[in-house]
Amino acid sequence: MPLYDAEYLPLSYLSQIGYCPRRVGLLLNERIWLESADTAKGRKEHENVHTQRIERRGSQIKLFEYAVFSDTLGISGKCDLIEAQKEPSGCRIPAAEFPVILYPVEFKHGKLRDEQEYKIQLCAQAVCLEEMYHTTIPEGAIFYISSHRRQPVEFNEPLRRLVCETAKELHRIRDTLSIPTADYSEKCRRCSLLEYCMPSIKQSAHAYCEQLTAEAQEVEML
Ligand code: SF4
Repeated sequence: MPLYDAEYLPLSYLSQIGYCPRRVGLLLNERIWLESADTAKGRKEHENVHTQRIERRGSQIKLFEYAVFSDTLGISGKCDLIEAQKEPSGCRIPAAEFPVILYPVEFKHGKLRDEQEYKIQLCAQAVCLEEMYHTTIPEGAIFYISSHRRQPVEFNEPLRRLVCETAKELHRIRDTLSIPTADYSEKCRRCSLLEYCMPSIKQSAHAYCEQLTAEAQEVEML
């Protein structure tokens, strides 16, 4: 049963929301995009690695830049790579003339590291594929381009629950057109929206308003 009728939101924002909910609010509701050295590098590395294509080698098919969607989560996007391996008990996909099991792989720039938001994004891709092809996908991997290393990710129940909760939060931000308040942290220094967001100033403004409210309440009580 679809949870969302109105709008399919970008699947990749499930990763962004883990990075910072305010960033998602700015991207989704104010349509802000500012390039930074990090985002430019990431985009370039992605472009160098692949374009939309299908590679066939015996019983394995590699699908690059594969479009996916989920009615349940109300999201759509692309998988960087899906490895489809021939398997009699597998599912049917349009690109293969035999049944296959599916293994999504998400490419990330930089060195191997443990980022929960990447796992959420990858698991959401698996949920999309499961819905589209009526199958079950127990595992995928994140491939770190600079270190050429794969990090396997198990799609267990806690991670799947997190995917649903994150998708709900993404839709809430969109439906209410909200821009979550800034929470200044280490991440802000690497965030491409830092100049627009001005998290430290907004935080002081917020503190100032809270102080004014407190003072007004004190006056009322006199
Ligand atoms: S600058 Fe900080 S608070 Fe603002 S969007 Fe970026 S990460 Fe979020």
